[in-house]
Amino acid sequence: MSRSERRPTTVGARREPPRFRRVAVRRVEHLSPRMVRVTLAGPDLEGLTVEHPAASVRLLLPSPGGQELVVPSWNGNEFLLPDGRRPTIRTFTPRRVDAEALELDVEIVIHGGGVASEWVEVAEPGDPAAISGPGRGYAIDRDAPAFLLAGDETAIPAISQLLEALPAETPVQVHIEVAHPDARLALPDRPRATVEWCDLPPGASSGDALVAAVRGADLVPGTKVWVAGEAAALQHIRRHLFEDRGLPRAQASVRGYWKHGRSGDADDDA
Ligand SMILES: Cc1cc2nc3c(=O)[nH]c(=O)nc-3n(C[C@H](O)[C@H](O)[C@H](O)COP(=O)(O)OP(=O)(O)OC[C@H]3O[C@@H](n4cnc5c(N)ncnc54)[C@H](O)[C@@H]3O)c2cc1C
Repeated sequence: MSRSERRPTTVGARREPPRFRRVAVRRVEHLSPRMVRVTLAGPDLEGLTVEHPAASVRLLLPSPGGQELVVPSWNGNEFLLPDGRRPTIRTFTPRRVDAEALELDVEIVIHGGGVASEWVEVAEPGDPAAISGPGRGYAIDRDAPAFLLAGDETAIPAISQLLEALPAETPVQVHIEVAHPDARLALPDRPRATVEWCDLPPGASSGDALVAAVRGADLVPGTKVWVAGEAAALQHIRRHLFEDRGLPRAQASVRGYWKHGRSGDADDDA
């Protein structure tokens, strides 16, 4: 390629994420007082495929105070609305994709103080949104001797998918921290899974019960570990797994799903 054919590169330019697909809410189902399943649908979902469990999609919502959905443009570094403001984009797990019905389910935690959490509490059929993705999921090692899945309420959709996808004969231990007892949900049935629901004590920091559960877990050699939840708690879990237990990095996926005190996701991987 000659120099003139090379595309100009901008310092710090990032690869443009997949385009936004316009959708509308088709159904809303309250799975618990803390979790709402929203079925998004529309012809733009044609061709959306999700290969692995625990993947991600970015959900674009109307800006707070507005009903209208404005799709932002990519400026080489980030998405911006025509008026220069940042759009409201949050990350969720694509829980179910139906290519025939052109539907996508996401399950959103009602935690009280966020745009997506507030949006989903009052979401109704016909409400506009858009999704982009999917982002990378979890490639399952079918030869692993055992799995540990751990997370907080935001990880319940991904953990449910993983329980459906892991090899049936492999033992799986699951630890889920809930900030409220009402957040417990029925998980997919699996013969060789043990599930521990860990209540976050009043006044404790998000992730405290999850950190304690992972610290106390009995891991047979070679166990594959998947953990997601609040970013600071996951730093403790990373240190515990990789330093205290000396787990090889490739044996664990530790993913920050949100960060205390900060809007938007905290997607960082081990
Ligand atoms: C790969 C990936 C997959 C994810 N999958 C899911 C999913 O399937 N379901 C899901 O509900 N979330 C999921 N999340 C997490 C979700 O993106 C964040 O919780 C997001 O911040 C929620 O947006 P919000 O607008 O409600 O709150 P924000 O406006 O982003 O945050 C407002 C405030 O609420 C706090 N906050 C955010 N989330 C929580 C929470 N769960 N509990 C308590 N406080 C919180 C923030 O720290 C901030 O102070 C995922 C994140 C990633 C990276």
